[in-house]
Amino acid sequence: MPAKKVCIVGSGNWGSSIAKIIGRNVKASNRFDPMVNMWVYEEMIDGRKLTEIINTEHQNVKYLPGHTLPANVVAIPDVTEAVKGAKILVFVIPHQFIAKLCDQIKPHITEGTIGISLIKGIDEGPDGLKLISDIIREKLEIEVSVLMGANIASEVADEKFCETTIGARNEANGLIFKELLQTPNFRITVVDESDTVELCGALKNIVAVGAGFCDGLGFGDNTKMFCTGQVSSTTFLESCGVADLITTCYGGRNRKVAEAFVRTSKSIVELEAEMLNGQKLQGPQTSAEVYKLLQKKDMVDKYPLFSAVYQICFEGKEVKEFITCLQNHPEHI
Ligand code: NAD
Ligand code: 13P
Ligand code: CA
Repeated sequence: MPAKKVCIVGSGNWGSSIAKIIGRNVKASNRFDPMVNMWVYEEMIDGRKLTEIINTEHQNVKYLPGHTLPANVVAIPDVTEAVKGAKILVFVIPHQFIAKLCDQIKPHITEGTIGISLIKGIDEGPDGLKLISDIIREKLEIEVSVLMGANIASEVADEKFCETTIGARNEANGLIFKELLQTPNFRITVVDESDTVELCGALKNIVAVGAGFCDGLGFGDNTKMFCTGQVSSTTFLESCGVADLITTCYGGRNRKVAEAFVRTSKSIVELEAEMLNGQKLQGPQTSAEVYKLLQKKDMVDKYPLFSAVYQICFEGKEVKEFITCLQNHPEHI
């Protein structure tokens, strides 16, 4: 079989961390082409193009400073150029940009291409929520797996040990992605329940915003952790489930910005711009997508945490009322 060309679609904090792994792994296996394309959303840094900096200094100075990217990872600003000839697409961008990007890529997809989404988020569909992997599947007509786990990007880039979960409906594809992405310190379990894995990754970001509110309000860790009681299936016990929920509620950006939201009088949008240097939050927008669905199904009262996070982020609800919302959980009444 000819070696497959890999394209990483995205180069933010997580995309650049994953590029470190992929760049190294493709060289160790003859299944993959040794040169990797990485699509970079072009921007100027101190008068220089980010792609040029990455291709000469091998560092994403904006989104993953201090880490060397393998020289066989080539930054390309034009996404249609980046995906050309690629048989394996790794999607790793903030979820709000995926639909438009797929439309740009579509004419360049060839038979037999497969994809994996590392994107934690969700969109609205006609009959409810739409998974990001479903957007990719429908727009590109390719098979798509997902990878989600308790994986703070900078820790993975530092090669600190962690586990992660691949959800693959097609077992053979799951194993290809495991070969592409596993390292001694990034251990992968493959399961077939792809949708559950993806939903875990998306929904935990809303909880993380709630955890940040708790921290900002000065509540204890007991307050933060009440929601782990919801676990009801073995998939939730993989890294994508409870482990990621807990990790993000302590170490993630959604938590950090939500805490600052309580402690300052600034909006989430202002704080995101001020605190994250171009990185993007996924939790607030995911809460908005989920809230629309809850309203449609007349279920807002049944999900007080998701609803309260949305109302605080977008409708000016007082953050002090966060706990009141939870105290009125239908299970407690
Ligand atoms: P990020 O938060 O660093 O986002 C910044 C990226 O978005 C940059 O590459 C920037 O160029 C790009 N961007 C900005 N405007 C854009 C536009 N208009 N169109 C397209 N791209 C644009 O990104 P990330 O951390 O790599 O996160 C990507 C996904 O991975 C998210 O869904 C996130 O939840 C998930 N994830 C992140 C982490 C983490 O710790 N960072 C861990 C696991 C999963
Ligand atoms: P944040 O986007 O909140 O930083 O979460 C990162 C993550 O998904 C860790 O698994
Ligand atoms: Ca449950």
